[in-house]
Amino acid sequence: MQAIQTTSNLPSTLHQYQQSTQPTTVSSLSSLLSCDACHKPLVGELVRALEGTFHLSCFNCLDCHEPVASMFFPIESTDGTQQPLCERDYFRRLNLVCDHCGDALKGSYITAVGKKFHLEHFCCTTCGDVFGPDDSYYEHNKNVYCHFHYSVKYAIKCTGCHTAILKQFVELNRNNVDEHWHPECYMINKFWNVKLARPIKDAGSQGLSHLTALELRDVQTAMEEKVYRIWTVLSAFEGRMVDHNENKT
Ligand SMILES: [Zn+2]
Ligand SMILES: [Zn+2]
Ligand SMILES: [Zn+2]
Ligand SMILES: [Zn+2]
Ligand SMILES: [Zn+2]
Repeated sequence: MQAIQTTSNLPSTLHQYQQSTQPTTVSSLSSLLSCDACHKPLVGELVRALEGTFHLSCFNCLDCHEPVASMFFPIESTDGTQQPLCERDYFRRLNLVCDHCGDALKGSYITAVGKKFHLEHFCCTTCGDVFGPDDSYYEHNKNVYCHFHYSVKYAIKCTGCHTAILKQFVELNRNNVDEHWHPECYMINKFWNVKLARPIKDAGSQGLSHLTALELRDVQTAMEEKVYRIWTVLSAFEGRMVDHNENKT
């Protein structure tokens, strides 16, 4: 389970790289000028930028070749000249692109599972529910999931109570079978040899997916409370036995 952390770009530092050009119209001079990209005469609207003059349609992003006259980010290309980039490719080169929509991350963003997301695009891979600032998310195979879909699709089930394990667990291998336990369920089983659920017939992941998110949470909470009560009762009992034995000696 992970809490959400937000990172902020500093727009002020980005602004100093950003330049935008206003297309300029040239009438009488136009026949004397030629485009620095295609070298044909310039007529109508043109762009003056990066120490050159270009047709509107010849002033293109270095990476995607789309026209960028309305806004561009200059970058030094391999031959040492300044070339324009569109906003998207400029941010892509800075590795500031939302993994969900592919657009530039210009403001605050979230980093999770080695990816970055717009705040409004940080959502469960299965249901698309956006995580709020107080929500927890769960990771599986470099994807993020809500509590419900992680529980139903990917969470390991506790050998003791057959409920999803969402936090810490005890892992052991018994008779060549890997077992995963909630720490409390493991202790109850270790000290008193009690398992809190009957062996699974096929009540595994299938059995839970028909529940709503709230019902599933209730099932998990009920089992957590049951485990906690059993643990408290049994350890109090154990404590009294120890006291009793100590008093006798
Ligand atoms: Zn041109
Ligand atoms: Zn581009
Ligand atoms: Zn996005
Ligand atoms: Zn979901
Ligand atoms: Zn358990």
